[in-house]
Amino acid sequence: MPPKKKRTNKQNNSLEDFGTTTFICKSCQHEFEVEWEIIWEIQEYTHGYVGYDTTDVYMDCPKCGKTVEGSE
Ligand SMILES: [Zn+2]
Repeated sequence: MPPKKKRTNKQNNSLEDFGTTTFICKSCQHEFEVEWEIIWEIQEYTHGYVGYDTTDVYMDCPKCGKTVEGSE
């Protein structure tokens, strides 16, 4: 039997966890979290640059369907 090779089999996860930010629906007060990666995708699509603010990001409230504007 060959000696057991110690292998660190931990894969470098290229997908970092950037966390989430909270949106609050003004219509129904529903709070929901959106991943930053999703927000950045929207920002890149809408104006070509991304940042840690959501003032120009609009999400649909998952509860009532109204458009929720991000805040600082
Ligand atoms: Zn709502």
